[in-house]
Parts: sequence; structure tokens; C-alpha cells
Amino acid sequence: MIYADYLRPGNLNDALHALASGSFRVLAGGTDIYPSDSATAPKVSLLDITGVSDLTGISLQDQVWRIGATTTWSTLARAELPPQLSGLQAAAREVGGIQIQNTGTVAGNICNASPAADGVPVLLSLDAEVELASVRGTRRIPLQQFLMGSRKTARNPDELVTALVIPHRPNARSAFLKLGHRRYLVISIVMAAAVVEIERGVLTHVALSVGACSAVAQRLNALERKLIGQPANSALVDQINPDDLLMLSPIDDVRGTAKYRVDAALTLVRRVITEATHE
Ligand SMILES: Cc1cc2nc3c(=O)[nH]c(=O)nc-3n(C[C@H](O)[C@H](O)[C@H](O)COP(=O)(O)OP(=O)(O)OC[C@H]3O[C@@H](n4cnc5c(N)ncnc54)[C@H](O)[C@@H]3O)c2cc1C
Repeated sequence: MIYADYLRPGNLNDALHALASGSFRVLAGGTDIYPSDSATAPKVSLLDITGVSDLTGISLQDQVWRIGATTTWSTLARAELPPQLSGLQAAAREVGGIQIQNTGTVAGNICNASPAADGVPVLLSLDAEVELASVRGTRRIPLQQFLMGSRKTARNPDELVTALVIPHRPNARSAFLKLGHRRYLVISIVMAAAVVEIERGVLTHVALSVGACSAVAQRLNALERKLIGQPANSALVDQINPDDLLMLSPIDDVRGTAKYRVDAALTLVRRVITEATHE
């Protein structure tokens, strides 16, 4: 693939003005873009945002976690973070192999909007919002609204995702589990993520999501409501049954049948809540 042009701005303002010109496609780690671009595709120009230092890093300020758009999976996996973000760190360690984690970014994962994107279920369970900037201004929308379908997002062509923003829950714990055909470097058949808060042995907050079983990963809202107020003990999983996953709409494909995916999702949801509720 030969690209028409390549620009690597050093600041956000230049990046946004280049995007506003309408002729650039955003490039972060390139781990989704390069494998998907073919020599026969129309020529595009690339706007490499990895030189914009404001877009990288993880910080906690004013009760929100801010994960800069170009923060790589490796940076996330190695960061000193509280149990609230353990599930996100577990997902970071499951994205491809080490080389992919060293260059692939969190924002690239959500902007690519694959149904099998490993970052999405846990970010949904963390109630993440997407921060978008353009020369017209900045806005924030819930990740659930940002993801509009397989490979479809609410991002306008002149907008750059600048960060993922997560409300700080100091008492929360999270977990993430992924099923693939092998242990490592594999596209997910199913993944599940849980975020919980427990007070005096009782669940006071539950957020559960399942990925790769629908065009966009789904929050299990009815199951969450059912589990809040329940004791966080080993009997909890007995309350999770196939009816709780009826909103999933998996497809048959080379990685697994729809029926297998639903069976696997049930097992993963039971395991992920068990993991999240364990000290
Ligand atoms: C061998 C291999 C294995 C992989 N394994 C996995 C896996 O196990 N799990 C998984 O989830 N993914 C996997 N991936 C996919 C990929 O690595 C991830 O989705 C990664 O997070 C993409 O990030 P990136 O920075 O490389 O995105 P890029 O390729 O740079 O961009 C992806 C898309 O997002 C857009 N974009 C990127 N950043 C922004 C931004 N800030 N604002 C607006 N648009 C933006 C780009 O224009 C493009 O459309 C794999 C890829 C490869 C090549």
C-alpha cells in the first residue's frame, strides 16, 4: 500500500486542523490499519498522532481516570493501578502478543469497533466515556453510544478521540476473561468483564459485559440488577442462568457456532463475577 501523504504533527491543534481539511485518516499504532489496507484500496493520507504528547498517559484527576488516546496496551498493563482497573489491565495483556501491545492503543481498539475488540467489554463495565475533539470543540459521549455497530462509531470524520474517561470508584474491583482457540495471540470467541463493589459482604454495584456475542459488546443490565443486594459468596453464580443472556445475538463463524458462544458466555460470566468478587 502506498499512501498519498503522511503527516506527524507535534501538537493537538495542528492535528485537529489537519483532520478538518478532510484529507487524512488517523493513524495510531497501525495494528488495525496496516493489516486491513490493501494495495488496491483508494490512496489515503495518514495523520500519525503518536507525536502528540498530550494524547498519551494515564492520570486520576477530579474523580475521573483519564486514559490518553495513544496510551498503548503495554503501558496500561505495566501501570500501577488500583483494583478498579485490574480488568482493563487483564484485557491489555490479552490483546495480540507483546509486539502488538507495545504499539496498539486503547483508542485504536474502540475506533476500529470490531465486535471482538478486547478492550470494549471492560470499558463498558467501567462506564467509560469517549472524549472527542475537533476544531469545533470537545465533547464526551458514553462508550455505549459511541459504538454504533460492527465497525461503526459516532465519531465525525473531523474528530479525534483524545481520551477514555472513567469515573473513579475507589472501592471497585474488576476482572476480564477471554476465550480463544489457544491461550495466546488469538481473536476472542467470547469475552466477559465485571466491575463490582462490595459492602459488608453484599454486592452494592455490579456491571457485567459480554463481547464477541453481538455486533457491539453488551451490558447485562437485567442480570446486574438481579445481583445487586446479593451476598458476594460462592452461591452467587447459581443465580446466573441462560435466560440472563437472552439479549446476546452471536453469529456462527469460523471461530465458533452461536450456540457454543452462548454456552461459553454463560461460563465466562459466572467465572468473571467469581474472580471480581474474590479479595
Ligand atoms: C497480529 C494482531 C493481533 C491482534 N490481536 C488482537 C486481540 O487479541 N484483541 C484485540 O482486541 N485486537 C487485536 N488486534 C487489533 C489491534 O491490535 C487493536 O485493535 C489495537 O488496539 C488497535 O490500536 P492501534 O493504535 O494499532 O489502531 P490503528 O490501527 O492505528 O487504528 C485503528 C482505527 O482507529 C482509528 N483511530 C486510531 N486512533 C484514533 C483516535 N485517537 N481518534 C480517532 N480515530 C482513531 C484509525 O483511523 C483506524 O480506523 C490485533 C492486531 C494484529 C495485527
